Amino acid sequence: MTGTLFIVPTPIGNLEDITLRALRILREVDFVAAEDTRHTRKLLTHYDIHPKSLFSYHEHNTRHAGALVLQRLLAGESGALVSDAGMPGISDPGHDLIRLLLEESIAPVALPGPSAFVTGLVASGLATDRFLFVGFLPREKKTRRSELEALAKQTATLLFYEAPHRILATLDDLFLVFGNRQCVIARELSKVHETFHRGQLGDSQWRAGLTLRGEMVVMVEGATISEATTSLFAPTDAESIVSAVDGLIAQGLDKKEAMRQVAQAAGLSRRDVYQTLLDRDQ
Ligand code: SAM
Repeated sequence: MTGTLFIVPTPIGNLEDITLRALRILREVDFVAAEDTRHTRKLLTHYDIHPKSLFSYHEHNTRHAGALVLQRLLAGESGALVSDAGMPGISDPGHDLIRLLLEESIAPVALPGPSAFVTGLVASGLATDRFLFVGFLPREKKTRRSELEALAKQTATLLFYEAPHRILATLDDLFLVFGNRQCVIARELSKVHETFHRGQLGDSQWRAGLTLRGEMVVMVEGATISEATTSLFAPTDAESIVSAVDGLIAQGLDKKEAMRQVAQAAGLSRRDVYQTLLDRDQ
């Protein structure tokens, strides 16, 4: 008989955040396929679990390791798939493997458990009745901007994962595309230094007070119904124009290009934007 693959979520920081069922499955299965075997071995050792077989399944070996998992399941073994933190398959390896198994008519069994975005969302205070998990945005500036533009009319709360060294550039883009919406950054969830930063995207004081270290979920309120049904956000008041230009310059654009992009987003001429900056400097 074909064996079962269990998708097993693991803690996103606090080692106590693992279910009794997850521990039992990890103890009982014939093999554990892990994103990083050294990382997983630490977790397993903490719980005195010593798997019969532990091997890696990560984004660079999905084909080879996927075939191995399939072969072992077909031979009647049971296995567990884990990632470094949280739910496998959520901004982590796993989805390809699940597709592969389903193509072979093998249904995996997913265990409920921690994921950073749900944990951040429920404590954020932002609307939870509708949300859209975006995960990591593309690194390339132009693609990232177009992806955000495609989300500008979403009324659902938007959830992103971001690395600390890219957070300021991302906040600039979020402000430029979405306007002065409410934003919550959940840092280091379930760890000693867990922090929630709640503010407005256009509030420079709020930005200056952010701690730019650790793991983060960035959450932004969705568009209002009127924003969703009218034109996209365009920075039209002087303060928004100035901070949009400053934000782009901080990202490395020269002043001329920053003014061009803001003028385009706002539907203004570059001269208008220039004049707004001159007025600010006086
Ligand atoms: N599979 C994981 C899950 O279910 O949440 C996500 C893995 S993804 C590679 C890692 C990203 O998740 C981090 O860069 C960060 O954005 C977010 N993340 C993971 N742990 C976190 C934590 N403790 N606090 C805040 N964000 C976290």
